[in-house]
Amino acid sequence: MLRGGGRQRVIPESDIHAAVAEKKAKRESFGDWAYVRLLHDWHGWPRGTLLAGEVVIPGYPKIGRVQTLSGILTQFHAPFWVEEKVDGYNVRIFRVGDEIYAATRGGLVCPFTTDRRADLVDPTIFSAHPDLILCGEVTGPETPYVEGTSPLVPQDIGFFLFDVIRQGGKGFFPVEERRALARSFALPEVPFYGRIDPKDLRELPAIVSRLDAQEREGVVLKEDSLRNFRAKYVTGSAELSDIASMTQRYLDVPPEYFTERVLRLALFLEDMGVTDREEWYRRLGKAFLSALRERIAAARQGRCAGSFCCRFHARENALRLLDDLGQIHGHEGETRLVSLQEEGGSWFLRFEKLYRSTTGFLRNALGGSLRFD
Ligand code: ATP
Repeated sequence: MLRGGGRQRVIPESDIHAAVAEKKAKRESFGDWAYVRLLHDWHGWPRGTLLAGEVVIPGYPKIGRVQTLSGILTQFHAPFWVEEKVDGYNVRIFRVGDEIYAATRGGLVCPFTTDRRADLVDPTIFSAHPDLILCGEVTGPETPYVEGTSPLVPQDIGFFLFDVIRQGGKGFFPVEERRALARSFALPEVPFYGRIDPKDLRELPAIVSRLDAQEREGVVLKEDSLRNFRAKYVTGSAELSDIASMTQRYLDVPPEYFTERVLRLALFLEDMGVTDREEWYRRLGKAFLSALRERIAAARQGRCAGSFCCRFHARENALRLLDDLGQIHGHEGETRLVSLQEEGGSWFLRFEKLYRSTTGFLRNALGGSLRFD
């Protein structure tokens, strides 16, 4: 018997209409399916929830960060499961009628992930359990959203299940039930590192430092209790890789992005008891300066842009993605289609995102302009 959160009452259409009028929600469609997505938390449903008649696909809630290992002692009241935090983008895969869709964190049906859904999970799970929502991370060098990749996926894309919810339900399946379901349907899951009692955390630093050495992102800790509390803890290597990757768009990112990561890195080194810091000092300098060197070279050639390449089964989904990119958080701004070509039965979409502020600043500097600062 599968559990995983009780069903909620149907939301009246008049309430949804009011939410749209107040700009808390937006009407969208994908093919023939019309739905509303929540732009903000609303009536107890998180941002990113999709609503369509009786269908409710709850948004994936935020996960708080423990900033030091001692935070675990304060925050966790019972033993917790340790899972890898896979670095990619969040998706929810679900079925409505006869169709299977994949939604982004913000609640848009993602044309790319929906196009590739059958490459990611075995759709027969929805014949047995049509009201399940598979929450997971998609990562790889060929996604339309993330520059760089997790070491777990060296080519194309991969999916890693980390939670299951029921349509209209509140609350996740307990970790053991989710894992049993994943085994039954051969669903790929996030790597799993066992169960730890907060009274004895000795094992955890070893797990984290192994992940750090492999340049992996970190862990999500999920309390084995009814409140199902969770928290994330990220490695120093992940802070560095974020810094290096976002320095590619240095002035197109709020400065706090960098200041917070440098602080978190300093706290991580304390937590891990790192005494020989010289290598970390070198790596932090390199994360900034090597990416900026590349950007200066790019600006000399004309523009600083991010390059993306992703593979589709259907050409129309590639075109839909190009249309949607402006609405996706972090992808606002100028997108330029480089090519859309059929190769070996698939459609390869290549596009660029222009980093306007970084390009403008560097081109002015290289062009010899005077600056008063
Ligand atoms: P948030 O809105 O939670 O701050 P974010 O986009 O900033 O989200 P992160 O801070 O990186 O994301 O961490 C939360 C995200 O981590 C989740 O939304 C999920 O996509 C991802 N994730 C990766 N692995 C796991 C896992 N094992 N369990 C839960 N979430 C995971």
